[in-house]
Amino acid sequence: MTEHDLRWLQRFTSALGLCTLIAGVISFSGWALDIPRLTDWLNDGISIQPNTTVLIALAGAAVLLLQYEYFKSTILLGGFVAFIGALNLLQYMVDADFGFNHQLLFGREWGRAATMAPGRFGPPASISFVIIGISLALLGARKNNLCRLVPGLALFVVLLMMFSLLGYMFGARNFYAIPWLSAISLPSAAMLMTLAVSLIMSAPQHQPMLLLIERSSAGAMARKVLPILILMIPLLIWLRVKGYELGLFDLGTSRALGAAALMCGSVLLMWKALQDLRRQEQREREADKRKDEFIATLAHELRNPLAPIGNAASMLKFAQSKPEVLGQATNIIERQLSHLVRLVDELLDVSRISQGKIELSRERIELSSVVQQSLEICKPLAEAASHKITVNLPSQPIYLNADPVRLSQVLSNLLVNACKFTNKNGHISLDVHTNNRSLTITVEDNGIGIPPTMLKTIFEIFSQVDQSLERSRSGLGIGLTLTKRLVELHGGNIEAFSEGLGKGSEFIVRLPIVIDEAPTLAASKNVEKPTAKKRILIADDNVDSANTLAEFLRLMGNEIFVVHDGEQAVVVANAQRPDAILLDIGMPNLNGFETCQQIRKHPWAENILIIALTGWGQDEDRRKSAQAGFNEHFVKPVDLTKLMELLATPVATKD
Ligand code: ADP
Repeated sequence: MTEHDLRWLQRFTSALGLCTLIAGVISFSGWALDIPRLTDWLNDGISIQPNTTVLIALAGAAVLLLQYEYFKSTILLGGFVAFIGALNLLQYMVDADFGFNHQLLFGREWGRAATMAPGRFGPPASISFVIIGISLALLGARKNNLCRLVPGLALFVVLLMMFSLLGYMFGARNFYAIPWLSAISLPSAAMLMTLAVSLIMSAPQHQPMLLLIERSSAGAMARKVLPILILMIPLLIWLRVKGYELGLFDLGTSRALGAAALMCGSVLLMWKALQDLRRQEQREREADKRKDEFIATLAHELRNPLAPIGNAASMLKFAQSKPEVLGQATNIIERQLSHLVRLVDELLDVSRISQGKIELSRERIELSSVVQQSLEICKPLAEAASHKITVNLPSQPIYLNADPVRLSQVLSNLLVNACKFTNKNGHISLDVHTNNRSLTITVEDNGIGIPPTMLKTIFEIFSQVDQSLERSRSGLGIGLTLTKRLVELHGGNIEAFSEGLGKGSEFIVRLPIVIDEAPTLAASKNVEKPTAKKRILIADDNVDSANTLAEFLRLMGNEIFVVHDGEQAVVVANAQRPDAILLDIGMPNLNGFETCQQIRKHPWAENILIIALTGWGQDEDRRKSAQAGFNEHFVKPVDLTKLMELLATPVATKD
């Protein structure tokens, strides 16, 4: 169940609470204004008693207050309702009159057909008020082990009221009119039933609500079948009885018809439920198949960059300081690593997008810088395939209110695809046009093209034109899904055009985000180059990761200390008092968060730079590291250029 489902459930429960509150007040006004029909819906002399109207209104108000988290008031009102219910019940048990029944009667003489004493409500309502009051108090107390009792208690009231309501429906007077046993008016039974249902709905973390609101096939079936079943059986029996009473058929026929209707109704319902189940299973099987295909593609895609990295590592082993081999191997590793990082980023992004967790950080930006960044990203691919890329930007600078990182992701995805899906020596163009306040960016290639049937579906997740594992063009089938979603988050749209296979493709992005003003100067950061030598502590339980980073930072002229767990990090930090600390989060003995907190406690460490290096990059992880006292949160593999920039920038001191 999602937050959204829970909110709806809460609204619906509040509505039930409000309805009983209003119904209680209206019935009370029946007594106050001497309008019997407001208290006696069937005009059979059995009215809802004034005390009952008050307790029902109070219980309705308590249900409402509970939904808006006024827990103390809920407990108080619930306690009061249970107390009066119990007192009333006691009158029946010890055969006494405590003298609190008649005060609100306003001297009316009507509506007493099933009462033992004027104004006294019957045993079923008394028991129900005790249970409803206790349940409200339990829910208000919010103790999980107590709240789990509520649905069971409320279900008991539902059953009790069901007997009374069925009694009214079929004219079984014994079910609602024996003063010392079953006496209850129709309005009381209906309102108490509503209250009991609202209490069951107030405990969504326990059965039966747990199943009823679950996003599973069982939940969907329960939602569909149970209400029909509950209404169908009494309705069919009622129809057969009415038909007999009206003389439409004799007793035997009415029984036979009733049995036939019940049988057909149940079989139809069952059939519908089974069909739904079958369809659901089919959908799950298809999803499973798509997931299997995706995992196969993922394995294939991850293996692609790993093979050259392995080769490059072997080259380094035997390079024996030949500079050209060293250069070649490091280039390969860098290129393939960025490809791997891109794949993992796409995977993370797509999971965040499907949970609706991606948010844009918009700022004023100039379009050409974003275009420049995107071109940089696709440059290695374009060069490798000898593609010619032409860019047409308007001569005037275009200022946008957009997220530069995400917009560059959109353009680079399109450009990278154009490079991938165009045979060698292809031609790719990027054209930008503005019209009023909207912007059109077209990325066109003369590549392999897209069949017309796929033009819409390529934006769906895992959708690829050529899905055979032997295909030479790599990818996970996620890029365009992300691109579309990011464009939509910017308030725009994207369309694909192609005249067919072999005829090239064109992607048009429209964005309504052009603004007039130039970006503020603060937006362009002036990054200092690393100058002074720094003393840096690295703590990471992955020895290779720690050592390679240490080696790189040493090469840059810094003094480095390396440890492999949190406790050592605290000890070495205290002994060495470094200028900056790079901490892995998942470490033995003391994790990164605790390590950072312990180090920050020392006065010397209050204003030093502490950076989190971790595999976890969700917003929640970033929030946690900021709370623990980190200045920055880097996701592995670390962008070394960024790290160097950060090490060179003076740390903002805390007030
Ligand atoms: P990936 O590129 O990882 O397979 P995308 O979501 O980026 O995934 O693209 C989905 C599919 O759309 C690609 O597999 C390819 O079949 C098709 N496609 C995307 N861009 C182009 C293009 N410029 N030319 C031809 N086909 C393309």
